[in-house]
Amino acid sequence: MGQLISPHGSKVLKPLLLEGKAREEELKKAQGLPKVKMTSRETSDLIMLGIGAFTPLDGFMGYDDWKGICSEYKMKNGLFWPIPITLSTAKSVADGMKNGIEVALVDEETSEIMGTMKITEKYSIDKAYECKEIFRTNDTEHPGVQKVMLQADINLAGPVKVLSESYYPKQFGDIYMRPAASRKIFEEKGWHTIAALQLRNPMHRSHEYLAKIAIEVVDGVFIHQLVGKLKEGDIPADVRTKCINVLVDKYFVKNTVVMGGYPMEMRYAGPREALLHGVFRQNFGCTHLIVGRDHAGVGSYYGPFDAQKIFNEIPKDALELKPFNIDWTFYCSKCRGMASMRTCPHGKEDRLLLSGTALRKSLSEGKPVSEDFSRPEVLEILKDYYAHLEHKVEIKTHAASEGIGMDAKNK
Ligand SMILES: [Zn+2]
Repeated sequence: MGQLISPHGSKVLKPLLLEGKAREEELKKAQGLPKVKMTSRETSDLIMLGIGAFTPLDGFMGYDDWKGICSEYKMKNGLFWPIPITLSTAKSVADGMKNGIEVALVDEETSEIMGTMKITEKYSIDKAYECKEIFRTNDTEHPGVQKVMLQADINLAGPVKVLSESYYPKQFGDIYMRPAASRKIFEEKGWHTIAALQLRNPMHRSHEYLAKIAIEVVDGVFIHQLVGKLKEGDIPADVRTKCINVLVDKYFVKNTVVMGGYPMEMRYAGPREALLHGVFRQNFGCTHLIVGRDHAGVGSYYGPFDAQKIFNEIPKDALELKPFNIDWTFYCSKCRGMASMRTCPHGKEDRLLLSGTALRKSLSEGKPVSEDFSRPEVLEILKDYYAHLEHKVEIKTHAASEGIGMDAKNK
């Protein structure tokens, strides 16, 4: 790994995923262990641990780590970490489990055994306190707060062995990438400085512009998009991937961009989440994280540039990766090009600012969207997606009203 940035708090990546015979044996043993169910967020965190994206963590966190992170962004051993990675279970389940025993970790939706854990600690937390510190709000309308408040009452901590990530490679093929794989690619390309572009929406011209500003100063950009569980109304990863592919193919210089996907569930914790995005991007081999307007935010809980400011509020040596701050970007008809609030002196009336919601509405109603906002090839893919979506919804509604049931949808 000579030329690349070190993983966070460690000289080497620490993937906790077992493979081959070791995995087979652990899986066999796991069948006989008491089971602890994991929510989708906990499962996605376990997979992040598995692939080494959460290096140097060795499992789910104990009370001291939880408390230190909430109050000071610091684990018990002094290492910087911005958001607690914890596992919760019902008191009735935890009561039957002594410290020192091993348990099987099971995804609550699929019932698949995802890993094993040796319980070293059981504790309860002040959830409202966690929310106030991590999300800066206790409003249960906030999707991240909601999940923490709905967590079961006892947290279980201990080192884990991860046994499966199978859903992601199967579903997302080449785009799903472990940190070891992205590091290998960067090394082969001879890149030293790499900026990560976080994406959970289709890539429009403003994202393209962000990436291109970065390419002017670093060796390459890692377009790193969220795969896996989504909110209702979000565009699936395979459609987003198609958009990125066509964009990279037609509008980027060859060998300036690498694309990958990661399985973590969004917490929408704004600034704190931007820091977590920084931590795991460093593990993927990136030296910079592009931080634009309202990074990882939701609603109006965070100031538009809180996620940039927070990188100045943590100690200088907390994180090796640095933020690549860029102001709000858009197309301006007077500048006749892409610009940002820092570079464009014109007014609102000249700037094309389209919210995700407004865009979805136009696309789903078949209304035209300006090519100054999004490249025509990308719009084509999105229109096609929405047309099929409408069609599916119609068939489903029709089938339900006639009492045909769900089968009709597949015919
Ligand atoms: Zn302008």
